[in-house]
Amino acid sequence: MIRTQVGIVGAGPAGLMLSHLLAQHGIESVVLEARAREYVEKRLRAGVLEYDTVNLLTETGVGERLAREGLVHRGLELRYGGQGHRIALDELTGGRTITVYGQQEVVKDLIAARLAAGGTIEFEVSDVDVHDIDTDAPRLTYRTGAGTAEEIRCDVIAGCDGSHGVCRDAIPAGVLTAYEKVYPFAWLGVLAQAPPSSEELIYTFHERGFALHSMRSPSVTRLYLQVPPEEDLGAWSDDRIWSELSTRMSTSDGEWKLAEGPILERGITGLRSFVSEPMRYGRLFLAGDATHIVPATGAKGLNLAVADVRVLARGLAEFYASGSTARLDSYSATCLRRVWRVQHFSWWMTSMLHRAYDGDEFGERLRLSQLDYVTSSRAAAVTLAENYVGLPFD
Ligand SMILES: Cc1cc2nc3c(=O)[nH]c(=O)nc-3n(C[C@H](O)[C@H](O)[C@H](O)COP(=O)(O)OP(=O)(O)OC[C@H]3O[C@@H](n4cnc5c(N)ncnc54)[C@H](O)[C@@H]3O)c2cc1C
Repeated sequence: MIRTQVGIVGAGPAGLMLSHLLAQHGIESVVLEARAREYVEKRLRAGVLEYDTVNLLTETGVGERLAREGLVHRGLELRYGGQGHRIALDELTGGRTITVYGQQEVVKDLIAARLAAGGTIEFEVSDVDVHDIDTDAPRLTYRTGAGTAEEIRCDVIAGCDGSHGVCRDAIPAGVLTAYEKVYPFAWLGVLAQAPPSSEELIYTFHERGFALHSMRSPSVTRLYLQVPPEEDLGAWSDDRIWSELSTRMSTSDGEWKLAEGPILERGITGLRSFVSEPMRYGRLFLAGDATHIVPATGAKGLNLAVADVRVLARGLAEFYASGSTARLDSYSATCLRRVWRVQHFSWWMTSMLHRAYDGDEFGERLRLSQLDYVTSSRAAAVTLAENYVGLPFD
């Protein structure tokens, strides 16, 4: 039997960041992770860090490699009708920027920091079960990688186990309300060994569908194509992928060229908006994808997970310092305010930039009108920019 203050399920950005922030307050935690360390350190997902996410990582001592290798972006491009329109993120937000740095790199840095500080992360656990969350002595039971049955007794459990975890399901039926929207399209994403063809991200709206040009480093490009949700990945040869990307992202002057290279990874991911409320039941607190999902268009999933655990860490710090539960009691309401803002932004970006497959020409005109407004009105551009770089944490 292991005794700790906070039992954390999941070593994704939410669980690792929570453990890291708690350690800064002298609060002990144990992190349980179903996958192997090598797997979570290589799992390719998000790559855009908001301004305050970068600041938080830096202020808490895990920003050294990020400062060296992260790519700071001061703007992004919206491309439609064959023309590019730059949104100057920094000018529109008083100097705030985004940093391109892969989620797997954030995870690597956090694991290294926790282990160097003597923190405990148990990888390759199985059969994790959550008990007694409606008491002040909750427990976690699980099997280690070697198959031994273990138990953790703690004061609080943090469910940071992503969208397919077990923590949310431990809450009794009828407590949670779920809100969900599934989009009628998906993203075919590729990682390519090719230098970025632009210094900034390009979000393209084209009559054949959305395309996104992003990057991971000066030699690796990340590219996405809107496809139908039931699309067969096998139907997409390398040539077809490059040709479709070039067509959708081409400019009217014919000047823009997409650099090609070997495709290192590819996959199709559906787009979904989901929120489960509240984010707490008894001594179980849910954070990150365990309680909300955003479509990737707004680049918010990782950032929202970090924002949640920052609120949770402060609540737990107050609880252990003074016994007050005031911040913990407002955890769910505080987080949900940001969650719904981010949900709206992600839905708005998704709706503006994707072509409907239902032949709705009225909707198509609205999308073009919205793009025209965002690229010609400073007020509209500020709205996009301040949400994209992330609203201030406080
Ligand atoms: C394929 C994919 C692509 C994405 N692309 C983008 C993107 O381009 N931009 C963007 O902003 N966001 C993207 N996201 C979203 C972003 O990656 C997530 O929002 C972010 O990872 C949330 O962090 P988290 O810690 O809450 O959850 P996760 O990162 O999912 O971490 C949860 C952890 O819990 C572990 N776990 C699960 N069940 C158990 C269990 N029973 N016991 C122990 N451990 C368990 C998992 O192995 C995992 O390590 C993407 C997500 C996916 C799935």
